[in-house]
Amino acid sequence: MKKYSRQRETVLEVLQSVKTHPTASWIYDRARLEIPNISLGTVYRNLSELRKFGYIISFKTDDGNEHFDATTDKHYHFCCTECGKVIDLILEGTEELDSKAQKILDCEVNNHQLLFYGRCKLCMNSAKLKPNN
Ligand SMILES: [Zn+2]
Ligand SMILES: [Zn+2]
Repeated sequence: MKKYSRQRETVLEVLQSVKTHPTASWIYDRARLEIPNISLGTVYRNLSELRKFGYIISFKTDDGNEHFDATTDKHYHFCCTECGKVIDLILEGTEELDSKAQKILDCEVNNHQLLFYGRCKLCMNSAKLKPNN
């Protein structure tokens, strides 16, 4: 197997092994356990190729982080503004959004992204546990 494809496969496997929507530098740290001399630039390049070919998706949150995701089925994300955790969200009734937007814009709409922000359950519970809260 060629070197570049082993690197790409490792990057993909690392991402497929988690549901946490990691950043490129997190993936880089994991990939280095498999391929010690892999560079961050190589990880970025492979991530961008994997995205181009539709194996993965990525999105940016308000904190400026780009998150990668090997789940490519249509789904949305919730980002906790306290701990930064990103959770998958499958929402019913959004199939029509593209065609609704298309009608309003009078443009061709192929895709949309929705990102929800708030506090996750864990952060809500830990706030409750704090005294004077
Ligand atoms: Zn949280
Ligand atoms: Zn996801």
